[in-house]
This record gives sequence, C-alpha cells and structure tokens, in this order.
Amino acid sequence: MTKTISILGATGSVGRSTLDLVERNPDRFEIVAVTAATNADALAKIARRTGAKLAVIADETRLAELQAGLAGSGCRAAAGEEALSEAAAADADLVIAAIVGCAGLTPVMAAIEKGRIVALANKEALVTAGALMTQAAARSGAVLLPVDSEHNAIFQCIASARREDVSKIILTASGGPFRTSPAEAIAAATPAQAVAHPNWSMGAKISVDCATLMNKGLELIEAHYLFGLGANRIDVVIHPQSVVHSLVEFVDGSVLAQLGSPDMRIPIAYTLAWPERMATPAQRLDLPSIARLDFEQPDLKRFPALRLAREALEAGGAAPIVLNAANEVAVASFLAGEIAFPEIAAIVERALSASDHAAPGTIAEVLEIDRLTRERVQTAKQMACQ
Ligand code: NAD
Ligand code: MG
Repeated sequence: MTKTISILGATGSVGRSTLDLVERNPDRFEIVAVTAATNADALAKIARRTGAKLAVIADETRLAELQAGLAGSGCRAAAGEEALSEAAAADADLVIAAIVGCAGLTPVMAAIEKGRIVALANKEALVTAGALMTQAAARSGAVLLPVDSEHNAIFQCIASARREDVSKIILTASGGPFRTSPAEAIAAATPAQAVAHPNWSMGAKISVDCATLMNKGLELIEAHYLFGLGANRIDVVIHPQSVVHSLVEFVDGSVLAQLGSPDMRIPIAYTLAWPERMATPAQRLDLPSIARLDFEQPDLKRFPALRLAREALEAGGAAPIVLNAANEVAVASFLAGEIAFPEIAAIVERALSASDHAAPGTIAEVLEIDRLTRERVQTAKQMACQ
C-alpha cells in the first residue's frame, strides 16, 4: 500500500533528502503536499515532479509566481501561514516537519492536532513548545518520530525497552568545525568557516548551530521532551567521527548505540518506513577503514552555548523559548556579517538574563514570547551598532 506524505520545508536540506528517498520508491510513497518559504520556482518544480496536489509558499508575495509555475499541472497553489497549516493538516499518512526555526511551530501543531504521524526534524518547534506539543500529541493520538540523527538513534535503541529500564541517554556531537580551534581563532571565525561542517551537509542555520554547539544544546532540550528524561540524565559527549549517532545506558549497565555513516537519509528512511525499514543508498560503514572512534568532554569555555542551553532547560518556563529566539536572531546576524561569532552566545546569554516571562500555557503565548524576544534582541543590537 502506498503511504501518502506531506513535506513541510520541501526545498531545504532535509526536504531534499526526503524527496530523494521518496523518488527512489515511487510504488511505496505518494506526495500529497509540499511547502517552502520563498523559492516559488523550486517549489513548483518539486510539485510537478512529484504530482503533489497542494503547494504552499509562506511568502504571499510569491503566490503569482507559484501559480504560474504550476499552471496546467492540477496542483493547487496557496500562500501564507494559514495555508502552511492547511498543508500540515492535509490528509496524509505521514507529515515530514522540516521547516527551520520557530516558524515551523504552528504548522507542526496543526499536524499534531489532527493526530498525524509526524517525522520531526524541526527541533526548534520542540524546544519552544515541547510540553504543549507532547500533551497535544497524547490527546490527539499523534505520533512523533524523531528525524534528528541523535534522537532517531535513541528511538531505535529504546524501541523494545521499558522506559523505566533506561538510566540515561548520551548524545554525541561532532564538535563542529572549530572543535580543535583556539579561542582566538574562534573569535575571528567567518560565516563561510562556520558553515563548513566536517561530516554533515546541512542548511546554514543548523550548520552555524553546530559550530557554536548550540545545536547540541537545542538537542538536549529536544531529547528531554521526546524521551521524558531530566537534564541530569542526558549527557553530551564529543565524537568527531560522527559514526556513533547516540547511546542509551540501561539500569543494568548495558549501553546500546546506533551507528551508521553520517547521511541524513538513514534516519529519514527510518521515519518514512516506520515501523518497517527500507533500503537506502547511504554508504555502508567500513569499520577497518574508520579504524578508531574517539570521545571527549565538550569544552564549555570555548563553546558556552551548550552551557546556556542546559541552564535554560533546567530553568524551564519560558527560558528555552528565549534561548531559541535570541539564537535565531543572532545566527541570522552572524550569517549577514553583522556580528562576530562569539557574539552569538553572548546575545543569547544577555537575552536569558533579561527575560522575565512566565511559563506559557498556550501556543499563542509561546509565539508572543518568541516575538518579544526577537524584538528585544534586534533593538539591543541596533543600539550596540550606533
Ligand atoms: P534548510 O534551511 O535547508 O531548509 C529549511 C526549509 O524550511 C526550506 O524548505 C525553507 O523554504 C523552509 N522555511 C524556512 N523558513 C521558513 C518560514 N519562515 N516559513 C515556512 N518555511 C520556511 O534547513 P534544514 O537543514 O533542512 O533543517 C530543517 C530542520 O531540520 C531544522 O530545524 C534543523 O535543525 C533540522 N535538522 C536538519 C538536519 C540536516 O541535516 N539538515 C539534521 C537534523 C535536524
Ligand atoms: Mg542532530
């Protein structure tokens, strides 16, 4: 039987890897809806190629371009926030949530409220609204399948385990492009150096997050919500080869890990085929040629973002929303050449210490804290530049 799929963020790195797998298996999958932020031309091409019924562009000024690109295809074009949620809630067996940033939160919630099976790459949605998302999923019967390679690894390791038998989880981190760089070199890092990840090929925002280690911090919070463990039961270890994708320690001292080549098509395929598996073209592990696997402690002095994320998780309430919003603004400023690399973590730290928001009880409150934090960070940045 074919599985019907909607892809939110179809033009991005995770979106394209998903399409690659889907298009290798035309008998197994059928694309229903696809979305993108601004690239109407790329979205129209994807919709035509896959025979999608609905294509949504977030930027409403691009609707005419999308309509022109889809003329005669039988695929409906739509634009704007509501249409994104319509694509997320469309009748499909699986929703791939691969929008980057808090922008993906409302569409992801639309899919969860419909009780869909959601393959979640969009970690910022869980970081900002993890409790509300998991509660909504429990109510609607929605299933969250982690796409993030570390969380997918843990999900695989605990597939047949009782939750009470897990003593802790260990997230691995590559350490990013500056793992061995001295603080002075990190301070002078350019956007081109920061996005040049040693092992993975990804979108610009997550690549910068890997360089600051904020990505691992966001993943710590993501793991907390996905697996229901406190911060004290989630460790982070640097593993430069990116072969061991994460580990689970059980009460008896056994440790299970999931290994594989660093290719996002492996965890994506696990969610596409779940609860089965499917073949992928990913390179097989050749252990003798890898020869060794290294592990080391993260250096929180050179990479303070990881410490800030742990503090935000421990503080709870609105802190993870503030952490994420400040980081999104800071990363965009760094990529635009406006601020130096160490300013990313400094901006996040200042935003966290200035924050006085109460814990949000609704998604609307989450979005309001996100908006206010972005505004505050932008204003502080402009004043610093004057
Ligand atoms: P990307 O920048 O390559 O793609 C992002 C996608 O989201 C694009 O399709 C873009 O059009 C869309 N988008 C961006 N802003 C939007 C907005 N405001 N409204 C609607 N759509 C918008 O990003 P990516 O690397 O594919 O990452 C996607 C998500 O998956 C991120 O949350 C990231 O942390 C997570 N993730 C990615 C990887 C990876 O290998 N790339 C691995 C693990 C997790
Ligand atoms: Mg990851």
